[in-house]
Amino acid sequence: MYDCIIVGAGVAGAVAARKLAEEKGKRVLVLERRGHVGGNCYDEQDEHGILVHSYGPHIFHTGMEDVFAYFSRFTDWHLFGHEVVAKVYGRLIPVPFNLNTLHLVYDEALGKERADELERKLIRIYGEGSRISITKLRESEDPDVREIARYVYENVFLKYTMKQWGQRPEEISPEVTGRVPVLISYDNRYFQDKYQGVPRDGFTPMFQKMLEHENITVVTGIDCKERLCFSEDGIYLDGVLFEGDVIYTGALDELFDCRYGRLPYRSLDFKFEYHNEESYQGHSVVNYTVSEDFTRITEFKFLTGQQGVDGTTIVKEYPFAYTGAAGEIPYYAILNEENRSLYEKYCALTAGWERFHLLGRLAEYQYYNIDAMAKKAMELAGRL
Ligand code: FAD
Ligand code: UDP
Repeated sequence: MYDCIIVGAGVAGAVAARKLAEEKGKRVLVLERRGHVGGNCYDEQDEHGILVHSYGPHIFHTGMEDVFAYFSRFTDWHLFGHEVVAKVYGRLIPVPFNLNTLHLVYDEALGKERADELERKLIRIYGEGSRISITKLRESEDPDVREIARYVYENVFLKYTMKQWGQRPEEISPEVTGRVPVLISYDNRYFQDKYQGVPRDGFTPMFQKMLEHENITVVTGIDCKERLCFSEDGIYLDGVLFEGDVIYTGALDELFDCRYGRLPYRSLDFKFEYHNEESYQGHSVVNYTVSEDFTRITEFKFLTGQQGVDGTTIVKEYPFAYTGAAGEIPYYAILNEENRSLYEKYCALTAGWERFHLLGRLAEYQYYNIDAMAKKAMELAGRL
């Protein structure tokens, strides 16, 4: 019946399924635990008719032409340059910290001339248009640069990171804070990728369309273990040894009933609020970097460009340590050596399954953006 089985209908599963079905002529069975496709990119209209992202705000951004072209087969776009501001003691400042932020912060405090001097110094040391991680900036030998780094560290990174990770910026993997560098330019955009935006009609219809193919069967609302048995001598589908490829995009520890203990993750509690007003904050995303228990507020209308609805819906994100309790979702792998070696231990348990493939931010215990995930899925499908 099937040549391939894919567990999970998120970015990884959907892209791999379409590629295998269309370009390799494989008959693909996709098993998805949730009642819908799209994984964490899933969006839907709330009771007020406002399009919301149920698992946190998602902005597609990429510089990869092939990935953009591939997704564009399944959707039109609402493209924009995504901007984020941080609320710092009542004032909104652009994040990532850039030269606009520098002048906002220092023109008044130190005088325009001194702020210009600081700008020239940053350009001289790092070069116009460069991106410097906060870790690197803090290591500067120049006292002026170190003072800027102190400001950015204390007002942008410290409290937000403590909320998000329960750890200080210097305690977490530098690649995480490195996602939001200091920009030596006047670019207020959060990402510097060529393409940024959201599917014009939402992420869900895009993934539905991607999975709509005669060679693809999608079953939602089912845990893969209801149909699949992962045993030492092979993988069974409905009790019969399955000889084709199996792509697994779920959490690896769960596959083995967490026998070595749970892989640590951070989770998020999303609190949605509807406000009967035209606009709540006037920005798509406001990061709370020095106050509050939530990390950020997203106002969906400003992200999706949705028009003609009454009122506005926002979401606040409250991070917490994932425990595996019912209803909790593992969102962010906590990248460090100890967790990586636990992950490798689980990986070793899959070594006997020749045609078993781990793909996805859960299955690979990695921090992937949508585009990077899609690229990996395209590559894996290409190899099979
Ligand atoms: P998922 O989307 O998690 O899909 C995995 C699927 O597998 C899920 O649907 C799950 O239900 C299913 N599954 C798991 N176990 C089983 C099982 N046993 N049986 C059946 N099904 C199973 N990226 C960006 O590029 N831009 C952004 O703005 C952005 N914002 C983000 C915001 C948040 C809050 C988070 C957490 C992530 C964000 N990302 C963003 C990253 C993006 O969500 C991921 O790159 C993408 O979702 C990865 O896709 P995936 O298929 O690997 O995982
Ligand atoms: N970060 C921060 N303050 C900000 C934005 C980001 O401290 O205003 C840090 C924080 O540790 C966060 C990391 O940078 O986890 C990466 O941010 P990004 O927005 O890429 O995270 P996402 O939630 O999109 O994965």
